[in-house]
Amino acid sequence: MNQKVMKAEVTEKFIELFGNDNLANYFSPGRINLIGEHTDYNGGYVFPAAISIGTYGVAVPRADNLVRVYSLNFEAVGIIEFTLDELIYSTESHWGNYVKGYLLKLIEAGHQFSHGFELVIEGTIPNGSGLSSSASLELLIGTIANDLYHLNLDRLTLVKLGQKVENEFIGVNSGIMDQFAIGFGEHGKAILLDTNTLNYEMVPAEFGDYKIVIMNTNKRRELADSKYNERRAECEEALKRLQKKLDINALGELSEAEFEANRELIGEVILEKRAKHAVYENGRTLKAKTALVAGDLVNFGRLLNASHQSLKEDYEVTGLELDTLAETAQKQVGVLGARMTGAGFGGCAIALVKANEIEHFIESVGAVYKNKIGYSAAFYVATIAEHAHKLVNQE
Ligand code: ADP
Ligand code: MG
Repeated sequence: MNQKVMKAEVTEKFIELFGNDNLANYFSPGRINLIGEHTDYNGGYVFPAAISIGTYGVAVPRADNLVRVYSLNFEAVGIIEFTLDELIYSTESHWGNYVKGYLLKLIEAGHQFSHGFELVIEGTIPNGSGLSSSASLELLIGTIANDLYHLNLDRLTLVKLGQKVENEFIGVNSGIMDQFAIGFGEHGKAILLDTNTLNYEMVPAEFGDYKIVIMNTNKRRELADSKYNERRAECEEALKRLQKKLDINALGELSEAEFEANRELIGEVILEKRAKHAVYENGRTLKAKTALVAGDLVNFGRLLNASHQSLKEDYEVTGLELDTLAETAQKQVGVLGARMTGAGFGGCAIALVKANEIEHFIESVGAVYKNKIGYSAAFYVATIAEHAHKLVNQE
């Protein structure tokens, strides 16, 4: 959906529900991870970017301590309402739990609010498909609260509070990458983030005649949470076994050569494969950054392909749907590389596709997928967008 159309829709709904006084508009992007998958909890590098599909919001402060929120993506849920005195998780609050959670985390950080607000939102990120609509929503709320309550919080604080909402209030054990990408993204730039130190570098992500195409498997990520926790545990165990000899705190500290010289310490094939992915994926991420800076898109594409293969064979987090999309994409004319993005088991893959081949690409990959899987994939052309922010007049 066109961004202007969405902004108009959200504004119209707000006026219908809550009136037309001093409306303020906000946008929070989604994110893709170009490369560096399952490296974040291993103290390694990730390379995400904010994208132009995201979540819009229109908000206005209220005089009393009521918060009333409405999403055009969940019209059947209607208006969700709560006071600032009842910021506890409840199933009836549905997606409003993200709002409650963020406000609670702000209060726990020492902020006080004397009034609530009204909010209408609409998002274009398919929920639960690995583009992080939840982190987009968290940073939208953070940006709105920062503005409405004049908190003057910096981006890193908003990002960390978003992760706390996810981890402690919603109960999803995720790293900081999603919120960081959404809080720090810039037009045309990817973020090389060291998840160990949170040092980061903004890297021009210029793809010339090529564009990033996002391919959605449309498969629910049913197993994702338990498998995610299983992989984390496997990496921890592999690390523990390496630590018997090596003085390291994370797999991300090992070079490929150090890993090869010590891998037999792990002593179990599965754990060795998991650790190998973590180490080599980290190396690929740094190489991908170098390739991008040098404008070597061919090599960048090869690294995407190698990342997918490692996630399939060594880390085993892809599955038939993601493999079909990524591997079919890799064979198309005008494609430099393709890989799954996000946690895996479903969700999305990305491909670097020559702009004038995109139409043909979508048709071909879509047909192969439908034929093999039995239902359709969805495709979006992504541009790299700016962090969550308040919209000014023309935006
Ligand atoms: P992901 O972050 O991968 O998209 P999650 O399951 O973590 O998937 O988050 C999806 C949840 O976030 C939704 O079920 C909903 O509660 C909330 N959410 C995201 N976008 C919106 C939106 N536009 N309107 C209302 N709720 C939303
Ligand atoms: Mg999420």
